[in-house]
Amino acid sequence: MEDTLFHKILRREIPADVVFENDDVLAFRDIKPQAPTHVLVIPKIPRQDLRNFSSPQASDKEVGKFLKGVALTARALGLEDHGYRTVLNTGAGGGQEVPYLHAHILSGRKFTWPPG
Ligand code: 5GP
Repeated sequence: MEDTLFHKILRREIPADVVFENDDVLAFRDIKPQAPTHVLVIPKIPRQDLRNFSSPQASDKEVGKFLKGVALTARALGLEDHGYRTVLNTGAGGGQEVPYLHAHILSGRKFTWPPG
């Protein structure tokens, strides 16, 4: 796995507006927000994308801790009553630009379906 921008944010080598952190995830505001609240959640164990979690070796605990980190971030942001959208872009076909697994949390505007 290549060293990405998000590895550098995790190592605090480049600045980020961190909104939540626990042993498993780091969450920080997106530099180019697509909604009034737009936060990225990354696992502290570096993974390229969601496809890592489909391998037979993938740990259910690790997968669960990532998803729980996303939910805990949304709670820390005070989004639970209103609701929010989560997005995981996977690979080129999914529109992923940074090859380090991350969940987008978006809130504060109306969302349409299907997404663009
Ligand atoms: P992707 O398209 O890979 O799912 O999303 C990558 C996201 O990373 C984009 O929403 C983009 O705005 C965000 N991003 C790119 N560079 C930086 C950066 O240096 N800092 C932060 N906080 N977000 C970034």
